[in-house]
Amino acid sequence: MRTQHSPSTTVMQTLSHYIDGGWVEEPGAERLPVLNPATGESVAEMPLATADTVDRAAQAAHRAFKAWRSVPPIERARYMFRLRELLVQHTEDLARLITIEHGKVLADARGSVQRAIENVEVAAGIPTLMMGYGLENGAGRGIDEEAVRRPVGVFACVAPFNFPLMVPFWFMPYAVATGNTFIVKPSEQVPLSQQLVFDLIDQIGLPPGVLNLVNGDRHTVDALLDHPLIQGISFVGSTPVARHIYARAAANGKRVQASGSAKNVVVVMPDAVLEKTIPNVINSAFGSSGQRCLAGSIIIPVGVAHEPVREALLASMKQIQVGDGLDPDVIMGPVISAPARDRILAAVADGAAEGGHLLTGGGAAQVSERPGGFFVEPTLFDNVRSGMRLATQELFGPVLSMMPAQTLDEAIAIIDGSPYGNAASIFTEHGGAAREFGARVDVGNIGVNIGVAAPMAYFPFGGARESFFGTEHGQGRDAINFFTDRRIVIRRWFGGVSDARGHW
Ligand code: NAD
Repeated sequence: MRTQHSPSTTVMQTLSHYIDGGWVEEPGAERLPVLNPATGESVAEMPLATADTVDRAAQAAHRAFKAWRSVPPIERARYMFRLRELLVQHTEDLARLITIEHGKVLADARGSVQRAIENVEVAAGIPTLMMGYGLENGAGRGIDEEAVRRPVGVFACVAPFNFPLMVPFWFMPYAVATGNTFIVKPSEQVPLSQQLVFDLIDQIGLPPGVLNLVNGDRHTVDALLDHPLIQGISFVGSTPVARHIYARAAANGKRVQASGSAKNVVVVMPDAVLEKTIPNVINSAFGSSGQRCLAGSIIIPVGVAHEPVREALLASMKQIQVGDGLDPDVIMGPVISAPARDRILAAVADGAAEGGHLLTGGGAAQVSERPGGFFVEPTLFDNVRSGMRLATQELFGPVLSMMPAQTLDEAIAIIDGSPYGNAASIFTEHGGAAREFGARVDVGNIGVNIGVAAPMAYFPFGGARESFFGTEHGQGRDAINFFTDRRIVIRRWFGGVSDARGHW
């Protein structure tokens, strides 16, 4: 057990890989420090898995697959029930680790554990979800046809930093419950909470090799992409990396689902209920310091909504207390790293130089008790126009850009002019406007009076256009499709009952 619990913090000092049912120490491995972004201090050291380590994990998963695929689905589901109970029992420990490694406030961290648990709950229904379909006489008189879902083999997921615990759960429970074996590769910036997840997995009694964890960076990822025993890759991260993953995994004959970057828009119509709309927009733009893939990063007030929206945002933003996410009074934590902070501040400076009107924020936030933390002030721009970098680039920080429009048509054109298509929301009480919006915007997740349109576990989670590469998304039925093949059985019998009463 690598976890040290103290009353104030939970810190893991030496991290390991989990392969073939046990923790694997690699004394000679190259290591990376893991920083707490609220303090800037190193809280752990993470070993980088080499191609040999990846091979060990892939071989173990491949060996395990042979027997695991034949375990009856109802028995595989029982492991999900056990895992669910342990995740529920350890929610608070997991949430603290997420806050320490990522910086988001504890309430957000707990919410993300809950989302992970819900995916395990859905995957516990695998006997029903995995059923195929059949048709008596489907292939002719006396010839029945059936489609059976079969597991495929070894899968791996490569996760981003912004949901350290949750994102692997969009895939892992479904992959394993359908009879595949699996390797998780967390982001090298946030490997802590997956260590505790695998401590829990270690307790549910899975056969060795069914679930494995390798820590590492881009070289580890390339070893996964190139490994001949790995049949498929589930990726979530930025678009340039998603493209690389999609191309390289496909070139190696693997199936791939790859989620990429986002630039999400919130439209506020003149009839929106402002006192409800603004808290939702604030949460969407500044929750998790703007580091959610569904975060609103552009707000389009339509027509006369412009001035009241601007004033209400400014008033609400004054209430955002920035600090260490472990502090219950804090509303917004740090961003993930010093380079991320510097990149966001540079984008803010560019935005002002390009003509964006900086209304508030724009600098590094000073938190006196946490002088080494990577804090950015909640930032609001007005009069941002199409083509400016504030309007086109994913900033992944607490920066909201207002792009006023005169009509809903104009707002929809701005949304569809972006290369990304992860999410878009409209705030209105007008059914016709909401319907028009929903029918026309080309994004994966549409919110109507919802600031963060995050699909529940039984619905697919994925974007469109440059925000997603592949066909099947994570979660729900899409995940079942991704992790299974449909095999056809056509059946007939040449003999028959021996007499009219059915005696043989
Ligand atoms: P990232 O693309 O930098 O890294 C994601 C993963 O890819 C990490 O595990 C990393 O080790 C690996 N990686 C990084 N560079 C690589 C390379 N050159 N070759 C192979 N592997 C590489 O993303 P991030 O900064 O960790 O996460 C933030 C990004 O993820 C944002 O763009 C955000 O929009 C996106 N995201 C998207 C969704 C979605 O559902 N579309 C969800 C969460 C995050």
